[in-house]
Order: sequence, then structure tokens, then C-alpha cells
Amino acid sequence: MINDPFPVCLTFDVDAEAGVIGRDPSNAEHPVALSMGRYGPKTALPLVLDLLDKHEAKATFFVPGWTADNHSGIIAECAKRGHEVAHHGYHHVPPASFPNAEGEREELERGIEAIQKATGARPVGYRSPAWDLSSHTLGLLSGLDFAYSSNLMDADGPYVHQLDGGTSLVELPVSWTLDDFPFFMARPERSASEVEEIWRDEFDALREREDAALILTMHPQIIGRPGRLAMLDRLIAYIRHSGDAELLRCDELASQTRT
Ligand SMILES: [Zn+2]
Repeated sequence: MINDPFPVCLTFDVDAEAGVIGRDPSNAEHPVALSMGRYGPKTALPLVLDLLDKHEAKATFFVPGWTADNHSGIIAECAKRGHEVAHHGYHHVPPASFPNAEGEREELERGIEAIQKATGARPVGYRSPAWDLSSHTLGLLSGLDFAYSSNLMDADGPYVHQLDGGTSLVELPVSWTLDDFPFFMARPERSASEVEEIWRDEFDALREREDAALILTMHPQIIGRPGRLAMLDRLIAYIRHSGDAELLRCDELASQTRT
């Protein structure tokens, strides 16, 4: 085996109502639209936490500051159970939509404060809402002492950015193929078993590739549907039974990458 152990990161973006409002501000007036976002922290996230406990797995939760402020109990619970709580914007607005770097920095700082207030710890990782960075984002992350970004799609495994000033910002690359959103929110929807097969294929093949990692992006409001959560249960068992994979938090994989 090339990578022994092979790193696997289970990550969950807890968009909550902020995701729905960020997509369309008029949704703030629509109770049903808001309830779809609220399904994440209210109904699905407690079950995701129980599933992770069952497998003794630690994960990373990317949380908008708005979610940390408005669902602070369950976000604090994520940290209490040993998971990483990382940054996912404040209002779940993509960085590229800010008119300048100053506006983007204020949004980042507000998100840091909210997570720090809910968990007691400053976030060290950042994933942008909708994976839409601006040309300023990586420099801002580096200036705010973030350890890693989890946004770019140009590699199969972690690497260190070459930024001005010689900083050591790590990239933990992502892919739409390893994200529950396109499969379950686009039409036509895929069955949980089809997605399980796709993700197993990726896991099996990535394990054979040098310096690769499996970084799965999920959303409690999407993967937390009962049939899909049962699939995630089977997938984690499959990963565990492979014998050569290690489930890591993103901050752990980032520090392994830097050394
Ligand atoms: Zn999101």
C-alpha cells in the first residue's frame, strides 16, 4: 500500500438557515425554506454525531458564524465530542461576492468570533460557502493565521500553498464527486446506494495513489436523511474494515502535511 495509513476526512458543512438565506435573501421570509435549512442542526446533526460516536470517528464540521450564533448548543456539542469546528463564512455568502478585501476580512473575523464564542476555540480551517474564493481569500486566510483551506479542486491529496511571504497554508482539496450536494439536491436525484458505490470506487482507487486522501464533503441537512445516513454508516464500516485507512480531522491532516 502506498499510503499507510491512508487518510480519510469526513467533513460536514452545517449551513442551517444561513445556507438558505445566503442563496436567496428573500427566503428569510419563507418558513418552509428556512425549515429545510433548520433540518440540519435540529434533526440531522444529533444523529450524525451519534453515528460518528458509534464508529469512534472524529470529523470536521465547517460552520457559518450565523449557525454558531443561532444553534450554539449543538455546535458546542460537536466540539465537546472531540470534533473540529472550522470556518464556513458568517452569513454563508461566497467570498467572491464581496466588493473588496476589507469586506471579506470583516466577514472572516465575524465568523472567527462566533465560532470562538460557541466552542471556546479559534477555528484553524476554512471552507468557503459554495466553493467560490475571491483573488484575496488565500492571502487573507494566511494573514489571519489559518492553518488550512479546503476549497480547491486541483489535486487528489493535501499540499502546501506557495504564497507571498512564505506562509505554510495547507490545501485539503475537494471535489464535486466527493460531495453529497450534486447527487442529492440536483435533479434527477441519485439513490443512496448509487452514491455509496461511487464513493467506494473513489476510496479504493485513491488508496492506490501516492500522497492522496479521501476528503468527503457532506451536509447534515442532505446526508442526514434516514436512508442516506444508513449508507454513510455502511461506508464508514467499509473504510474501517479496509484495515489501512485512518479517519482524521482536517486540522490533523493539515499538520501532518506541513511536517
Ligand atoms: Zn455551505
